[in-house]
Amino acid sequence: MCGPADQDRSTAPTARAVSRRSVLIAAGATLGAAAVGRSLFGPTDHAAAAGTYLRPCGDVRISSSWQGHKNRNPPSGEPGTDYAVPTGTPIQAATDGVIVDRKDSTGTATGRYLALRATDGNYIRYLHLQSSAVRLGERVARGQVIAYSGASGFGSETGYGAHVHVSLWIGGTPSQLGFTNSVDFENYVVPSTPPPPDSEDPVPTHQSSAYWWNTAVPMGVWARIPIAPGSFYLAQTGVGSKETGDLTLYLRAIGVTTGLQVRVVAETLDSIGNIVSSTMQPVIEIPATTAASATAATLGHYSLPYFLSGPLRLYAELRVLNAGITVQQVDFKKNFWRS
Ligand SMILES: [Zn+2]
Repeated sequence: MCGPADQDRSTAPTARAVSRRSVLIAAGATLGAAAVGRSLFGPTDHAAAAGTYLRPCGDVRISSSWQGHKNRNPPSGEPGTDYAVPTGTPIQAATDGVIVDRKDSTGTATGRYLALRATDGNYIRYLHLQSSAVRLGERVARGQVIAYSGASGFGSETGYGAHVHVSLWIGGTPSQLGFTNSVDFENYVVPSTPPPPDSEDPVPTHQSSAYWWNTAVPMGVWARIPIAPGSFYLAQTGVGSKETGDLTLYLRAIGVTTGLQVRVVAETLDSIGNIVSSTMQPVIEIPATTAASATAATLGHYSLPYFLSGPLRLYAELRVLNAGITVQQVDFKKNFWRS
């Protein structure tokens, strides 16, 4: 379930990780979260936990409730509470306990996470972290900073909008109780003014395609890159609609002895769909690989975060820098949110 090995980041126009997989997108549909230390605690007195836990980052906005996670289609594989905080916000331990699980890679829907086995016998997971501040096996105190929030998931630092997801299981580990059998963490926090719930859902929609283009590209001219037969548009919005996301194109070409260039073009449309203007996004150059020959494949990718508002659409173009290049395959992946 891990994303593909990080590919050559130096060819990306941004410093972010760009690997993506067309995997489950339900928040927390995670695998491999084997809990350790389940014998660390004796009989539980978890009923005492009600009303004593700390929210991870204080009384911030809840961007998606536990019930909201359950109402998704498909339902979240790990229902929890999403607290909307900027990346890098300190996260406090809800209660005393021991860190019994820690994942430091961005892969899968969870991204980086920490698991806290509370001394009351309950089990709490913090997902999509930027980083963890405590070691596996470390005993932590209520209110101690244990991590910094992020948006990690799907092999990227920005697989989601920035938030921390908190899941709670009563009296056992998720392996014992089932990942879907979490309870509403908000019912266990210290009474305070409840943060206003928000209808915004930070879980992105994932789209991907793989297209065997297999076309010899004429040298020195910009050519549109199809992502499916006769289909070029990477993103498209209409009047009054918005889309935020990030997209990645993976290209496989043979005959590359110099290199090829890729750019995305943003077309602004009028209300009936006529093109009003075109804006070129930064060009990135994919060099020949060291083993380049007439038959060896050169792999490259182009990654772009974007925000579209109103009648706009995006497509990609390439320009080959030597004759005799055939682009064999075009893989397209994106995560996006519409509003
Ligand atoms: Zn969540």
